[in-house]
Amino acid sequence: MAELKISESRDLTRIERIGAHSHIRGLGLDSALEPRDVSEGMVGQTQARKAAGVILQMIKEGKIAGRAILLAGQPGTGKTAIAMGMAKSLGLETPFSMLSGSELFSLEMSKTEALMQAFRKSIGVRIKEETEVIEGEVVEIHIDRPAVTGAASKTGKLTLKTTDMETIYDLGAKMIEALGKEKVQSGDVIAIDKASGKITKLGRSFSRSRDYDAMGPQTKFVQCPDGELQKRKEVVHCVTLHEIDVINSRTQGFLALFTGDTGEIRAEVREQIDTKVAEWREEGKAEIVPGVLFIDEVHMLDIECFSFLNRALENEMAPILVVATNRGITTIRGTNYKSPHGIPIDLLDRLLIITTQPYTIDEIRKIVDIRSQEEDVEMSEDAKELLTKIGHETSLRYAINLITAAALNCQKRKGRIVEVQDITRVYNLFLDVRRSTQYLMEYQNEYMF
Ligand code: ATP
Repeated sequence: MAELKISESRDLTRIERIGAHSHIRGLGLDSALEPRDVSEGMVGQTQARKAAGVILQMIKEGKIAGRAILLAGQPGTGKTAIAMGMAKSLGLETPFSMLSGSELFSLEMSKTEALMQAFRKSIGVRIKEETEVIEGEVVEIHIDRPAVTGAASKTGKLTLKTTDMETIYDLGAKMIEALGKEKVQSGDVIAIDKASGKITKLGRSFSRSRDYDAMGPQTKFVQCPDGELQKRKEVVHCVTLHEIDVINSRTQGFLALFTGDTGEIRAEVREQIDTKVAEWREEGKAEIVPGVLFIDEVHMLDIECFSFLNRALENEMAPILVVATNRGITTIRGTNYKSPHGIPIDLLDRLLIITTQPYTIDEIRKIVDIRSQEEDVEMSEDAKELLTKIGHETSLRYAINLITAAALNCQKRKGRIVEVQDITRVYNLFLDVRRSTQYLMEYQNEYMF
């Protein structure tokens, strides 16, 4: 079997914006896992944060894998915030991926394939290997199949064995920048001009070997004879099983990691990869790093997805599964049965359940403070007070949403600090759920049935 390609774990497509949870930087616990009052963007919800911290500690110490945790609570009580806090405290090496129950039904792949990919994105492999480092400039790159160790090819060029995805990502990005995404495919041979760094496409490679057929397109670097083969160095790569899948999948190739358009991955590819990873583990070359998979709105999953989860958790490489829901007793999708949170009893029985509680006025005030700071919005004390009251009477999320709108209103009237008038204005412009429902009840006859 050909050497598997591995990659540095990094996600080039994700851009940080001021998202709903960008103020959360951890769980805000001290070294004894006690929650600090306000810390790392987290306020209140002390029991839940503490419980999440204990689980996190067990994950970090490698004591648990294949466990599942349910965050249950009313809307806007910080379930997603706690999951984000866990992710931030895990450190870069532990993979974390996130998915919303409803997304599974809108992807261009079967829901179990989407779940499988999510699971494999949450399982890390730490691989130790010796690499040969070639110094000197790479002048020709052959994106096609696994590189072969420093042998001179017929054309008098050296091939470079590399599994250093840092280089591959850089080159891939350069290729796409220079040639355009549509023009770059696995199998391309390109040249980089030494002096100017200009990239030209030389053609396509059609070389095949038995290994290649088994493993699909991979990546080879071709180097001019003046590049000297040198030194061996030990490198530790941390990658996810999903990245290994994509890179080794014949139909997609590593470029799919840029577009995110990975499609379905064949079961044989995964089997081969699991066998290879098991071999590496036996030889002491690799370790599994169980990460965390967070599924929000878990009540949106149907019975097939739930049985998939049950089975997937049995796997010895399984990550920690954290699911969240704001539903009470409801129908399990795909059945006529009702159950707590819409989750089948057998799965529910496996879960450690953490509940979140509604916030006090004081806590809402602190969250409003943190969010205004995060969004760079200056607000008068009176305005904050009003917003807190609104949050308490409607919902925390509604109050948070009004911050940006009020800041825009303030800007429009050329004000510098958001005042009560800005909050009142946007409160009247945008309805919260209760007022919107009331309006519908009054005017329902004028709507379509
Ligand atoms: P839903 O059930 O509707 O999905 P949820 O319980 O997941 O809601 P979040 O989305 O986590 O609620 O919370 C709503 C908003 O309040 C988010 O912007 C979140 O970051 C913020 N928030 C919630 N709890 C806290 C907290 N304890 N500290 C700081 N910010 C919080």
